[in-house]
Amino acid sequence: MSTAEPRTDTRDGVDLGRLAELDVAVLNGVGPKKAKSLAKAEIHNLLDLITHYPRKYLDRTKEARIVELLEGEEASVLVTVNSSSSRRIRGGKVMVTSTVSDDSGSLRLTFFNQAWRERQLSPGRQAVIFGKIEMFRGQRQMTNPVVDLVGDKTGRIIPVYPQSEKTGLNSWDLAEWVAETLRRTLPPSGRGLIDPLPDYLLDEHDFITREAAFKGIHQPESLAEVGEARRRLVFDELFRLQLALVLRKRAIERTETGVAHTIDGPLLTGFTDRLPFELTMAQRRVIDEIMADLARPIPMHRLLQGDVGAGKTLVAVAAMLAAVDGGHQAALMAPTEVLAEQHHAGIRRLLDGLTVTDETSLFHDRPLRVELLSNRVTAAERKRILSQLLTGEVDIAIGTHALIQENVMFSSLGVVVIDEQHRFGVEQRAALRDRSYEDASPDVMVMTATPIPRTAAMTVYGDLDVSVLDELPPGRSPIVTRWVAAPGNLDQPAGALDMIADLESMWNDVRQQLDEGRQVYVVCPLIDESEKLDAASAESIFDRLSAVELADRRLGLLHGRLTPAEKDQTMDLFRSGHLDVLVATTVIEVGVDVPNATVMIILDAGRFGIAQLHQLRGRVGRGSHQSVCWLVGETTTEDGEARLRAVVDSTDGFELAEVDLDLRGEGTIMGERQKGRNDLKLASLRRDRSVVVQARRAAIDVVDADPSLDAHRGLAAELQLFLDQGDAEFLLKS
Ligand code: ADP
Ligand code: MG
Repeated sequence: MSTAEPRTDTRDGVDLGRLAELDVAVLNGVGPKKAKSLAKAEIHNLLDLITHYPRKYLDRTKEARIVELLEGEEASVLVTVNSSSSRRIRGGKVMVTSTVSDDSGSLRLTFFNQAWRERQLSPGRQAVIFGKIEMFRGQRQMTNPVVDLVGDKTGRIIPVYPQSEKTGLNSWDLAEWVAETLRRTLPPSGRGLIDPLPDYLLDEHDFITREAAFKGIHQPESLAEVGEARRRLVFDELFRLQLALVLRKRAIERTETGVAHTIDGPLLTGFTDRLPFELTMAQRRVIDEIMADLARPIPMHRLLQGDVGAGKTLVAVAAMLAAVDGGHQAALMAPTEVLAEQHHAGIRRLLDGLTVTDETSLFHDRPLRVELLSNRVTAAERKRILSQLLTGEVDIAIGTHALIQENVMFSSLGVVVIDEQHRFGVEQRAALRDRSYEDASPDVMVMTATPIPRTAAMTVYGDLDVSVLDELPPGRSPIVTRWVAAPGNLDQPAGALDMIADLESMWNDVRQQLDEGRQVYVVCPLIDESEKLDAASAESIFDRLSAVELADRRLGLLHGRLTPAEKDQTMDLFRSGHLDVLVATTVIEVGVDVPNATVMIILDAGRFGIAQLHQLRGRVGRGSHQSVCWLVGETTTEDGEARLRAVVDSTDGFELAEVDLDLRGEGTIMGERQKGRNDLKLASLRRDRSVVVQARRAAIDVVDADPSLDAHRGLAAELQLFLDQGDAEFLLKS
């Protein structure tokens, strides 16, 4: 924060920005060597230090006593070190032995190959030891226990900070430095810490002050106090994030002018009237949401989440037709050439026979034009399409990302739909605006078939509006999923057997489906990041299946090393029913639509994540025939098994997304979108779901009442501190 900035916050005290300006070296206890260790743990300044939160707390009154420890049990005890020594044992290894005790008795600790323990566990040190009790010559002992050094603390509740051998930091040093920071910052000896939250929010949520929260998280008198402190600090983290997202959303709405689209034009009504089926309730609801956005002169920026097969394409087409109805153009961007082509063919079919008004033509109308712009169209054709985009003769353009880059110019681009593309930020929006001769920014809809939980969506996509297609079209029989533990795995946990089939019955079932005229996908193991190895594995599976399990059937092979033309040819053969079985790598993951394919076999399924398995499975169950997905593979980890079980148990993408979040944590969902200082240190999207919602609501209230945060300088300064420079400038300029 620049000090020249005027503050309307009249309260005295320092803010987090001031703490961030103070290097850890200002602390009495921190010399050059300790500063270096702290730097290794990414702690450079006093803000880093006080937001380096304890990993857990020890309640001294609840610790076990040594005499109570039973052989074979795991326990943690608070002890004082009596002595430590080391000696060499066979193989040149080092064994450290320590004797520790509490007021009830003593305990022997042995460490193998951790020579540094002798220095760490010097006599007189206090530590909490966690491990399994063994008896050795009549004495209690632990081997390689977890050791948390806690120092000579007198409080009842002792914070345990993350510590590691790498940084050489220990918990009591950290506690000391935090204590010094708090002592020098908080009253009576310090100036106090500014609390940037408006009073009404403090009241509404019954929050303790920020000072009390930092004190409570680092130096609690009770675990209840930790809880209150955590509640406040978690809110602060999520609130900052939501403020940034809501500000960004509002800034886009403020700074961009969009097109007020025609939403009840003849194309759109003609299209829905002609559909051979009824729209689902969800499709109707979502189309209404989108139309409301399109009608406004503010550009839409909306995410459409919908499970595989939910019918997102129709929604996209409706949005694009609204643009064309008003004399504008639309573009649909797919992640791959294959998908672009598939969309092109499918959408052309859907729109076949529709006409648009054209005053220059004899009958005042002409056929609606949908064109594909891919790398594979000839140069001459490309030239023709480009020039017709410019004149407005092409109404809908479909292609990959290249569609909105390079020298593609539209006469008037009104709606852009982006399929399966998560990253779409401020810069891309700006680029879009340049694609059109009109000044207005096109409305943008991003579609994804990877459902993420609502609260996570609020965090990851908080600058977008979100629509959810949560209903599948009728007449689909749910996909049955079976898990085949690969041969040789006899070690199945009890209760799992009901869903475990064997390879023999799988191939029997597959052959029966083939006999009935259905088609089959076989997805090959994921070797690693290398396309070459994946391709090799697919080839060998192809050879083997052709020779053994699926001999006499027509098999095709699809992997990333084939030329686009080869891939096309294979896909076409499969689509048209000239191939029975498609052996493929994960290149078939998104969007491929062959309703006659009813069997999906995923080999080595344990290597895939939940979302990916769900995506792959979504390639079947697209027609009226009963479909089956076979997960083949064994897992050696609990998580792996939980993943497979979840996919067997549920076909609901949102439910699976919740499980995934529980299993993997939020890191993977947050991805690259939020980095740097605003990383959530304390908050968890999983545990703190309800706080995400509260923070979102509070952020909307604050921003709508005070769009440039003039009356909330403390919050503005904090955003500047936690966001990267470019973001902050964009958000806070008025
Ligand atoms: P996704 O959401 O995975 O992109 P699609 O848009 O590809 O789903 O739709 C999957 C299939 O469902 C398509 O064949 C489409 O024609 C069909 N479909 C879409 N909406 C309906 C509906 N309301 N009733 C019946 N079938 C529908
Ligand atoms: Mg789709």
